[in-house]
Amino acid sequence: MTLSLHIDAARWRAHQEQVLHDVRGLVPVAKGNGYGFGLDLLAQESSRLGVDVIAVGIAQEVAAVRSGGWDGDVVVLNPWRPGDALATALLDDHRVITTVSRADDVDQIAEIAPGARVIVEILTSMRRHGILPDEASRLSLDGVNLEGWAIHLPATGSLEEALRLAHAPHAEAPFWLSHLSVDDYRSFAEDSPVPTRMRVGTRLWLGDKQAYRTTATVLDVHRVSRVTSLGYHQSKAPSDGFIVVVSGGTAHGVALAAPVPQRNARQRLITVAEGVLSATGQALSPFSLGGKKRPFAEPPHMHSSMLFVAGKSPLVKVGDEVDVTVRMTTTTPDEIVGL
Ligand SMILES: *Cc1c(COP(=O)(O)O)cnc(C)c1O
Repeated sequence: MTLSLHIDAARWRAHQEQVLHDVRGLVPVAKGNGYGFGLDLLAQESSRLGVDVIAVGIAQEVAAVRSGGWDGDVVVLNPWRPGDALATALLDDHRVITTVSRADDVDQIAEIAPGARVIVEILTSMRRHGILPDEASRLSLDGVNLEGWAIHLPATGSLEEALRLAHAPHAEAPFWLSHLSVDDYRSFAEDSPVPTRMRVGTRLWLGDKQAYRTTATVLDVHRVSRVTSLGYHQSKAPSDGFIVVVSGGTAHGVALAAPVPQRNARQRLITVAEGVLSATGQALSPFSLGGKKRPFAEPPHMHSSMLFVAGKSPLVKVGDEVDVTVRMTTTTPDEIVGL
């Protein structure tokens, strides 16, 4: 009785193969919760794809992909900082490529781990990490083994920015990009005098939404009336109806929401409408019963959630599977079915 991620393996893998075919120099990204699939599984799938290198987010994730069977090169995407003991230990690991984003850090690495394999990140319009382009033109690289220059573009990366930044470095080495469209990347690669690589996570693992879905199981159903108190917080049922208990709670990351970018009037209206619903104690849950998302009866518990279904029928019975809308990058299912 679990939260289950169902994968249509043939379809999922066909999509991965398509991305591999479209993106020459593909670097699969396997980080965090493994985009909902887990790092183990993504390590296995990357091995299946036959790529030579994958990327993880942080030093701790190197061991995780290796325990999933990965034995090729691993790029650590989050830039090295002094004081990170594990990332420092990995400088001596010949299968690990460390990202560096400050000139001082390049100097330090050259001193403590001469010959370490590094990629130097250049600051883009993201403004997260990276050396300034004009620093890249005079960076001293003696003492490190330069594997490339990283350019991490915003979600809608522009070819123009990638090309402009590619002029910055003085030393020739491959460019490691992300977030360009397939066509823009191809055109960058065709004109590039050096080899190019592209890191892809979301588009690779989550690009075909028909290839996977998440379900919960109905664990219990109770009839309640308007005067019934319920849950940890002993709130009253909003009307006569049913409490339906389903698998899936905070431990799985169900209903965890990150702030949504408020890009336009429509998005703002949705946010306001959701706020109004929450204020009335009727926050919509991600669980669909009878073809419709139902409100939470109270905030999700660790492994299950209590939903409210108004009316004369609970629509479901114990043991039924129901669809859950999840954000894959914050969800950890109990089991994966279909592989
Ligand atoms: C996470 C990450 C990626 C992959 O991002 P997706 O949007 O999941 O494809 C690429 N490059 C860097 C530096 C990252 O941190």
